[in-house]
Amino acid sequence: MNREENLNQLRDKDKIWDIAIIGGGSSGLGVALDAVSRGMSVALFEKADFAKGTSSRSTKLLHGGVRYLAQGDVFLVLEALKERGRLIKNAPHLTENQAFIIPVYTLWDRVQYSAGLKIYDYMAANLSLGPSRYISKEETLRRMPGIEPKNLYGGIVYFDGQFDDARLALAIAQTADHAGACILNYTKVTSLQKNEHGKLTGLNIQDQISKKKYPVQARMIVNATGVFADNILQMDNPEAPKTIQPSQGIHLVLDQDFLGGKDALMIPKTKDGRVLFAVPWHGKLVVGTTDTLREKPKLEPEALQKEIEFVIETASGYLTRKPTREDVKAVFAGLRPLARPKEGSTKTKEISRSHKVILSESGLVSITGGKWTTFRKMGEDTVDYYSKVTGLKVPDSKSQDILLYGYTRDIPSGHWKVYGSHAGQIQDLAKENSAWASSIHPDFPNILAEVVWAVRSEMAQKLDDVLSRRIRMLILDAQAALDCAEKVARLMAEEMGKDEEWIAAELEDFQKTATKYLIKT
Ligand SMILES: Cc1cc2nc3c(=O)[nH]c(=O)nc-3n(C[C@H](O)[C@H](O)[C@H](O)COP(=O)(O)OP(=O)(O)OC[C@H]3O[C@@H](n4cnc5c(N)ncnc54)[C@H](O)[C@@H]3O)c2cc1C
Repeated sequence: MNREENLNQLRDKDKIWDIAIIGGGSSGLGVALDAVSRGMSVALFEKADFAKGTSSRSTKLLHGGVRYLAQGDVFLVLEALKERGRLIKNAPHLTENQAFIIPVYTLWDRVQYSAGLKIYDYMAANLSLGPSRYISKEETLRRMPGIEPKNLYGGIVYFDGQFDDARLALAIAQTADHAGACILNYTKVTSLQKNEHGKLTGLNIQDQISKKKYPVQARMIVNATGVFADNILQMDNPEAPKTIQPSQGIHLVLDQDFLGGKDALMIPKTKDGRVLFAVPWHGKLVVGTTDTLREKPKLEPEALQKEIEFVIETASGYLTRKPTREDVKAVFAGLRPLARPKEGSTKTKEISRSHKVILSESGLVSITGGKWTTFRKMGEDTVDYYSKVTGLKVPDSKSQDILLYGYTRDIPSGHWKVYGSHAGQIQDLAKENSAWASSIHPDFPNILAEVVWAVRSEMAQKLDDVLSRRIRMLILDAQAALDCAEKVARLMAEEMGKDEEWIAAELEDFQKTATKYLIKT
């Protein structure tokens, strides 16, 4: 992916793109992927980095949602299970089949959860990742040595998908880019263009790095801006009512040995009636999440103290070694772009997590809600609106079968897995220049060649892009990311031809961001 080459494509002022997409999170990228699968011309604009918003802050589960099943949202669960199966086939380098264990404390728990999970297995049909089953107290303790044994009756094992959200976003961007789409990060949509009939004809963007402005013409414009969707809807129509209710979820990252083993813990009913996960991920344990209404959309939302306390307290109830604030390596918060509840109700967990496509009078197509797991289907449903908006025929979607960038059957081991078929090229860089073979941080397996690769091939522009989303150090261990920030910034500057002033500015920006991921003790 080459940013300069893609920006050059915007210099042709007469070009009319079939679809222009605002937003480079899972929703916008799903639209881009589906549109290129139909042979359409696509331009995607992301004001920050790909997945900088909610799409890098998920629980990292590819799931039908056991909780949604309990709530009776059968259609959503069925759809998500199908998408889970497809994605695991199309991106084996970015996904995992993860075993989860629900600890059970009574016979009734056993009956209730066993039955629910059998239905879940049945719904996944031939895309099932493995059958659920009851395991004894001894086996539960053996598989999860850190679990509190007091009053434990046994456990139920079931299987779901897990993934690296920001890396998957990047792989989708790269797949679409290689299929001819013009994919750009750090390009903000500042206004929309309309004809004399009030119909959308294009948009205006500003490169957030050079500050250059570009007009772009498109037959259909998609608003895929997650919690920011109302800003674009109001750009289109200043009278447009609010449709989005941001709901914050946080995760704490602990050392993996708090739970031990390889299985994830699923707590089906917390004090606030939600579920809590503790999932092994990149050698750490990701614990969350919460559901807290927030008023304003933000790219860097901050965890509230009460959310941090809630997660620590709930996890402590299930672990023998009780985590404290000192044990937290990082905290990250994300905002769910939930559909705003009807008047009189404020309970976001009662709102369906299904996605919705909204067509405005001007022809603006907004995709809202949904989940990471269903990004492809959300894209397909959005592109289906093309005929309605333009009156032109739209070819059938083929995105179900697209193998994602880096796809290989020969999955590299260890942390190289996420690079799939490109891992060898990065390792070759380290052979070319032995300095790049050294590690970025003593506690992490990543090497400096990955920073070079991120700049050369993954459109990384800022220090935060590398430390937060190309390698995931910021959300795995915020202090470690701060410790190696200067080393990484210097190497990026060398690659990008930047000066000391750039390095100082990047370090200052990163310090500000990273502080939000540290817990004050
Ligand atoms: C705590 C939490 C846990 C979750 N866990 C899971 C999970 O385990 N599994 C799952 O399937 N789903 C999960 N989800 C849901 C999933 O993460 C979201 O549904 C999904 O990431 C939303 O993606 P999006 O593209 O709609 O929004 P975003 O990722 O926020 O993307 C919107 C993008 O639009 C950009 N943008 C805004 N304005 C402009 C503009 N003017 N010009 C250009 N770009 C603009 C923003 O910068 C942003 O990057 C979770 C959500 C949360 C909050």
